[in-house]
Amino acid sequence: MNWLSDITPPGIKKMFRKRDDNSDALWAKCKSCDEMIFTKDLEASQQVCPSCGHHMTLSPTTRLNAIFDGGQWERIELPDVVTDPLKFKDVKRYTDRLKDYRRKTGEKDALVIGFGQIEGVPSVVAVQNFAFMGGSMGMMLGEGILKAAEQAIANNAPLILFTASGGARMQEGILSLMQMPRTTIAVQMVKEAGLPYIVVLTHPTTGGVTASYAMLGDVHIAEPNALIGFAGARVIEQTIREKLPEGFQRAEYLADKGMVDIVVHRHHLRETLAKILRVLTRHGKKAKPNQQGQNVTPLRVEAQKTESAQKALEAPMDKAAE
Ligand SMILES: [Zn+2]
Repeated sequence: MNWLSDITPPGIKKMFRKRDDNSDALWAKCKSCDEMIFTKDLEASQQVCPSCGHHMTLSPTTRLNAIFDGGQWERIELPDVVTDPLKFKDVKRYTDRLKDYRRKTGEKDALVIGFGQIEGVPSVVAVQNFAFMGGSMGMMLGEGILKAAEQAIANNAPLILFTASGGARMQEGILSLMQMPRTTIAVQMVKEAGLPYIVVLTHPTTGGVTASYAMLGDVHIAEPNALIGFAGARVIEQTIREKLPEGFQRAEYLADKGMVDIVVHRHHLRETLAKILRVLTRHGKKAKPNQQGQNVTPLRVEAQKTESAQKALEAPMDKAAE
């Protein structure tokens, strides 16, 4: 933060720290090779272990800063939805759980959407936040993906989605499952507009997310060793009563089998995305890399939907709002 917090002894820092906040710890341990890494080094390497290359979870805002030119982007706010329509309660009320995660992450829900340029190509990038209830897909996330798609169309920009999710949000029951067809329509809208839709699968991408928008990309990129699958390996093993092959449901295995197009190291992600975008859009020769993030194309707010998509989208939401 500042020089004062840098020299404050850890004991005093701890006194003012909430129990679940470990953001200012000085060292972090790599889960893969057990190496102790200086937090600042980890930040500088985008949370990639310098000794073994293990990719750790990256916060959505850090991700967007790293992807967009000059770290400059405009936030697209998530639309408001009905909170806790089922009045769900397990050991804790769903509304309390939401409040907790909102405080912890500073975000409204498990999705952050940004608009900016990637090597000069204006793009909408949506990033799922695994730290927010396991990146689970609820109504707000579904609406968010829809909004991201609309913004992509309104701005004639490609849509890039970073997935990380445990699947549907069980606290919203059937309403969360309804986000699967809704997000599928959102993807369809982008495709009908002739715009590229690129998915970057990060660790872990599972459940209903894999079964909907995560597997519908024009191009599927994955981060090294990311877990990508629908049901868990243990469940599959118990069901089919067979030993699963090594590396099952991992990015490299899926790239080998054709489910993933390319596995890209986090440090090369931006340039790879830019290359793909240049090929898939007409910005290639005209656009110049935007060094300082200046002259960022302003975000247009008005979105158009095709008639069929409009109809399909209105039907389920009317029910959800009741
Ligand atoms: Zn490591």
